[in-house]
Amino acid sequence: MTHLTLQAVTKRFHTAYAVDHVDLAVPDGKLVCFLGPSGCGKTTLLRIIAGLETPSSGTVAFAGRDLTHVPANQRDFGMVFQSLALFPHMTVAQNIAYPLRLRRVARDTQAARVAELLDLIQLPHMADRPVSRLSGGQRQRVAIARAIASSPKLLLLDEPLSALDAKLREAMQVEIRLLQQRLGITTIMVTHDQREAMTMADEIVVMEKGRIAQVGKPLDIYRNPVSEFVADFIGLGNILPVTLDGPDRIGLPGGQQIIVDAALRTSGAAGDVRLLIRPEDVSMRAAVADPGPNVLAGKVAFIRDVGSSLEATIDCAGFTLTAATTPRETPDLQVGMPIFAELPPHACKLIAARTAH
Ligand code: ADP
Ligand code: MG
Repeated sequence: MTHLTLQAVTKRFHTAYAVDHVDLAVPDGKLVCFLGPSGCGKTTLLRIIAGLETPSSGTVAFAGRDLTHVPANQRDFGMVFQSLALFPHMTVAQNIAYPLRLRRVARDTQAARVAELLDLIQLPHMADRPVSRLSGGQRQRVAIARAIASSPKLLLLDEPLSALDAKLREAMQVEIRLLQQRLGITTIMVTHDQREAMTMADEIVVMEKGRIAQVGKPLDIYRNPVSEFVADFIGLGNILPVTLDGPDRIGLPGGQQIIVDAALRTSGAAGDVRLLIRPEDVSMRAAVADPGPNVLAGKVAFIRDVGSSLEATIDCAGFTLTAATTPRETPDLQVGMPIFAELPPHACKLIAARTAH
């Protein structure tokens, strides 16, 4: 079942389109991420869904009901902003109870619900602590508990983790995702961090300049991006300008030809074409007895070895490639050494070049 439906939602500020004809269906119980660079319209679209912003045109419907002109406080959605907007002078329990108080929920029902939520966010002993004395991660949990206190049908999160340091942020991603799955609450989360979106989302909506560039499951988008913009934004990628030299043959910037899987040539990839190959698909070998057509000779230019993973930048004739592996798999890599990089035909994707703006 589809709960939230957006049809041709558009928002203009003066003459600029912040959101431009967005059509979207958000399935029940899923976590959907709006992902894109700063200024692409993520927050505006979320605020339109929340009712904090009125679209210039288009409709927002939830469970079959047109909500386009229903005010935010009558939509029954929970929201967490980047700033969290907790009340610093109130205790944890008072913050969580706040939306229940607004709804004039009976006091004992409020207390029971707050106790239940404190257990859920694993802060049962912190009810009476002022939020000003909590750590960043604890505040985060309280903000989420407050947003779900009145059992909203939809949870809206706008970059809720952006103020946290990297380690805590990664831990909270898992925590929020597990909580969302346990509650089965339909959730939309805005982020500009592709790794965060890949970690948390059932579905990612990639946005570019107010429009939807691609919608899909994280790995589908990673493996089959529809455009250079999406390929570049999701994950690390080698993106090279190439020429189409035959049905299964392309020319690299240095002039060498390689074979690609003809079936992978998407219909869109005519005219200006790019080769996309992900770093983990590039394999490195120190010596090759009989280099096949897809083996390129190069030189190691840089090694980023962080212990758990290793990336090597390889200078080839006319272009640079990044290959990713683990330190265990390639123990003898040295900067300056000659190397062979193999690009398997099935991993070579062709995509249409980004159009000039
Ligand atoms: P994101 O959340 O993806 O960073 P926003 O939705 O905040 O993007 O902004 C999208 C575009 O709309 C930006 O160009 C921004 O400057 C513009 N914008 C957002 N809100 C307003 C506003 N209230 N008035 C004028 N322009 C706005
Ligand atoms: Mg924003």
